[in-house]
Order: sequence, then structure tokens, then C-alpha cells
Amino acid sequence: MSIYLDNAATTAVCPEAAKAALEAMTVQYANPGSPHAMGRAAAALVERGRAQVARALDCLPEELFFTSCGTEGNNWALRRGAEYNARHGKHLLSSQAEHPAVLRTLEELEARQGFTLTLLKPERDGSVSPDAVRAALREDTCLVSLMCVNNETGAVTDLAAVARAVRERCPKALIHTDAVQGFLHVPLSARSLGADLITLSGHKVHAPKGIGALYIRKGLNLPPLLTGGGQESGRRSGTPAVELIAAFGAAAERGMQSFAADSARMAELRGHMARRLRAENPGLLLLGGGAPQLLSLSLPGWRSEVLMNFLEARDICVARSSACKRGGRSQVLAAMGLPGDVIDGAIRVSLSRYTTREEADAFCDALRDARERLRSSVRRR
Ligand code: PLP
Repeated sequence: MSIYLDNAATTAVCPEAAKAALEAMTVQYANPGSPHAMGRAAAALVERGRAQVARALDCLPEELFFTSCGTEGNNWALRRGAEYNARHGKHLLSSQAEHPAVLRTLEELEARQGFTLTLLKPERDGSVSPDAVRAALREDTCLVSLMCVNNETGAVTDLAAVARAVRERCPKALIHTDAVQGFLHVPLSARSLGADLITLSGHKVHAPKGIGALYIRKGLNLPPLLTGGGQESGRRSGTPAVELIAAFGAAAERGMQSFAADSARMAELRGHMARRLRAENPGLLLLGGGAPQLLSLSLPGWRSEVLMNFLEARDICVARSSACKRGGRSQVLAAMGLPGDVIDGAIRVSLSRYTTREEADAFCDALRDARERLRSSVRRR
């Protein structure tokens, strides 16, 4: 059995979600838009899933709209949010540490629709300081988008403080957060956060791939990205993926039930690994930190792909940096001001509620052995 330590890329579907999906696929498989009894039963599953995810995000069910993934949620929030709010100005504020689903979308708005984009430099851990946001806000800022947990370093941005700064200086600006790595990993309440738009993705929280959600604050009339049959109260057309929604709901409910215990266990495991890795690998650096599930480390002078080949031979799966893009140096780590040799030696280890201490120890053993065995052959010139 492989040792899977790449849960920031995606997670195993939990038994509760798999059961819910199977039942929806084989029993309640009708189109939820159909008026007959089976259609109504499928529609009830969709509403149940919505209520479950809404409870986990601490929002109203009617503030939550299902999407196909986090990328769609980010595209919807940014494209339509910027257009909708352009009457208040055309300045967009975000950071260099965002996921490509945010960065590429904002860049396109700048290139094609005449918006001006400011990308803040992250702190040394990958988070964005509320003071830097306050200083960069302009009278014409119409949208601020900052992720809640960085997918490469696990750094947590104080979004409540960011939201306060934005409300003070630019009360009309929309606040969006990509909470794909934060939802069910760090405490997150839509009610108290103060954001207008929050992006979620199911497959990072033990639901299947292909389902996400966008929180749209009540009263904000964000136009749809996908138009068509008018599903999701006219906000997101397309036949709802009942089985995926049922699974997302079940995964969210399960995640919420064990949130405190899971976070505490992952934080303990992360701390244990950090202590071992530092003690056994002279020169090892821990990058960022904050979220309990993510451990980003670097062995400067060693190339991460070489270390990863060694880990792979032991059936251990980790990530070089973001698994969402292939090749290339991590832009996030570069934006944090880290030197090239630190970036090239960076590995991301990400845990889940199913990660065991034995698996964590197997990774630490393997990294130590890799360094010792490869010392002569892979040392960079
Ligand atoms: N945002 C962040 C922070 C992510 O880590 C990811 C995926 O890794 C995404 C967005 C994209 O989510 P999805 O894979 O559901 O499109």
C-alpha cells in the first residue's frame, strides 16, 4: 500500500461520502429538475447536501451554490464580481501567492477588460499581512481576493482583519477568499469572516473530484457564470451532480463532526514530523506553516525531484510544490523571497485525518535515508 502524503492535491473519498454517492447514483438517480416523485427525491438530496455544506461553513443554505470545482468557483467569483462592481472602480487587489485559478483569471481581467491589478508580495511564510492590504487599497478598489490557507506552505492569512481593513477604507469593494485549502482544516465561519464570496472544493475534504461550491453573501446579486436552464436558483445552470453533491454534503458533515479532533491530531503529527526532520537533517528548513495538514520543507542544495524519486521507490507520495501545475519553479516560494536552492529543494507533505504516525515516521525515515544514500551522487555543483 502506498503511503499517501499529498492530501493538499486531493484526498481519499471518505466512506460516508462514497455511500451517499452510491445511493444517489443507483437509487435517487433522477434529474432533480424533474417534477415527478423520483425527481423530487433527487432534489431533496441536493438540498440536504446544501444544508450540510452550509452548516460546515456556517452560512445559510441559500447562500451556497454548487459548482464543478474550486477553479470554477474562483472564476465565477472573480469574473462576475469584478464586472458587477466595476461601477465603483476598476482596481483589483490580490497577492502573488494565490492559486493559478485566481492569478490567471485576474490577469485576464486586467489584459482584456481594462482592470488594474495589484498583486501583493506575501510575507516570508506565504501569508498576506492585513497592513499590506490596508496600504494597497485605493479609492477605486472594487474587489479584493486573498486565499485563506496557502496551498504550498499552509500559511494562514488573517482574513477577518483583512475584511475589517477593506470595510473601513473601501466599503463598496467585494471581498473574495479562495478557501479551498482552509475549509474544514482551519476554523472558518462565513458568518463571522466578513467575506462576500468564498470558494470551496469537495475533493480536498474527502468528497469526490468534480464538485465545489461558491458562497455568495445574502443580498449580493452576483450574476451567473454559466447560463442555461436556470438551475441553482438561476445562479448556476447545468443539471446538478446529485451524487457528487450528496457526497460533498456527507463529507462536510463528517468533517465537521470530527473537526476539532482531526485538527488536533494532524497538528500533533505535523509537530512530531517537524521535530524529527529538523533533528535528523542538518540544514533542513521548514517553510511557512500554520494549517495543521500542511508541512512544507526544503533541503537546500538537494533537488526535490531526486529526493522524490527516492521516496517513490519506497512507495511514498508527496508533492514537489503545487501539484496543480507541472514543471517550473514555484512562483509562491519565489514571491516569498526564498533563494533558488531553497525553492529547488522544496517538498510539500500534506496530511489527512487518515494519516497514521507510522506513515509519518516512514516519510521521516525515508528522507533521512535518501539524504544519506544520495549524498555523493546528487549534491548540486
Ligand atoms: N485553490 C486552491 C488554493 C487550491 O489548492 C486548488 C487546488 O489545488 C484550487 C483552488 C483548485 O481547486 P479544484 O482542483 O477543485 O479546481
